[in-house]
Amino acid sequence: MSKLPDTTMTSPMLEYAFFEGRIVPFSEAKVSIGTHALQYGTGAFAGIRGYLDQDGETINIFRLPDHTTRLLNSGKLLRCDLPFDRDSLAQVIVDLVEKNAPQSDIYIRPFIYKANVQLTPRLKGMHDELSVYMMSIGDYLDTRGVKASVSSWSRLPDHAIPGRGKITGSYINAALAKDEAEEKGVDEAILLDQHGHVAEGSACNLFLVRDGVLITAPITGDILEGITRRTILMFAKDLGIPTQEREIDRSELYLAEEAFFCGTGVQVAPIASIDGRPVGNGHVPGPISKQIGEVFFNTVRGKDPRYAHLLTPVRRKVAAPAD
Ligand code: PMP
Repeated sequence: MSKLPDTTMTSPMLEYAFFEGRIVPFSEAKVSIGTHALQYGTGAFAGIRGYLDQDGETINIFRLPDHTTRLLNSGKLLRCDLPFDRDSLAQVIVDLVEKNAPQSDIYIRPFIYKANVQLTPRLKGMHDELSVYMMSIGDYLDTRGVKASVSSWSRLPDHAIPGRGKITGSYINAALAKDEAEEKGVDEAILLDQHGHVAEGSACNLFLVRDGVLITAPITGDILEGITRRTILMFAKDLGIPTQEREIDRSELYLAEEAFFCGTGVQVAPIASIDGRPVGNGHVPGPISKQIGEVFFNTVRGKDPRYAHLLTPVRRKVAAPAD
C-alpha cells in the first residue's frame, strides 16, 4: 500500500512554507492553540504531488489548477473569503516549489483555515488564512497488492459534513476507519455510505472491474470528488475501456474481477483481497488495473506527451553566473 511518510520519524519537510502571506522557514509557520480551525476542524486542505522529471531538474506538479479549484470550492463550502483565485493560488505553490528547489518527488499540502481565536463554531465573518508546506515523498507502491476490509464506520453523508470537499474536520471519519482496518491487520478500509453502497477508501477513491467494465461510485455518492478518479475515467475512455459511475453494492466487491484504490497519496494501488476474499483470481494487478497504472505513472513522470497538459513543470532556478 502506498503510504504518506511518517513525519514523526525523520522529517522530510522542505525548508520553506508559505504562511499568512509570505514565505518563511517551515519552523516559523505556527498558529495559536486557540485557532478556530484547530479547535473545530474549520479548515480545508489539498494534497498535491510533484514528480521529478526524467531531466532531474524539473518538478512536474500533477493537475495543479484542478487541485487549487477544488481547494477553493472546499473554501466556498466553509464560506471562506480569501484573496486568491485558481491561478493566483497555483502561483503561490509554484513560487514555493521554486524556493524549496526539491531534489526528489514532493507532496504539497496547501491548507485554508479559520484563523481567529473565537469560541463559537461558525463559518461566517471569520478571518481566513492560507498556508502551504511541502515534504519529500517516495514511491511506496506495494506491487503485491493491498488488503482491504469493509469498515463498520459509514462514510459521512453530504447532509452532515460535505465529503466532496477536503474539509479538515471530516477526516476523523477517515481516521476511525483507517485505525479499525489496521487493527484488523489489513492496509485500508472501504467505507459504505448511509444506504450501504460502496463509497470509497479512507483517503482514496475506489474502482472495480466487472465483466470488463470499470466501475466507480458517482460523485453524488458521498465521496470526495477525486482528481485521480477523474483522471482515470479519462484514461479509460481514451483506452476504449467502458466505464460506469453508479451505485455499487457491497456484494459486488466479492464478485469483482479487479479492484484498485486511487488518489494522490496511494496513486494507483491494486487490491489483492477484500474481507479476506481474493479479488478475482487473486493475482494483481489485473489487466485493466495494469493498463491504467502504466498510463498513470508514465503521465506523472512526463513520459506521455498526450497528457503533458496535466502537468505544471517547475524548473529549479539556476543561479546566474558571476561576471
Ligand atoms: N477520498 C478521500 C477521502 C481523500 O482524502 C482522497 C485524497 N485526496 C481521495 C479520495 C483521492 O482524491 P485525489 O485523487 O484528488 O487525491
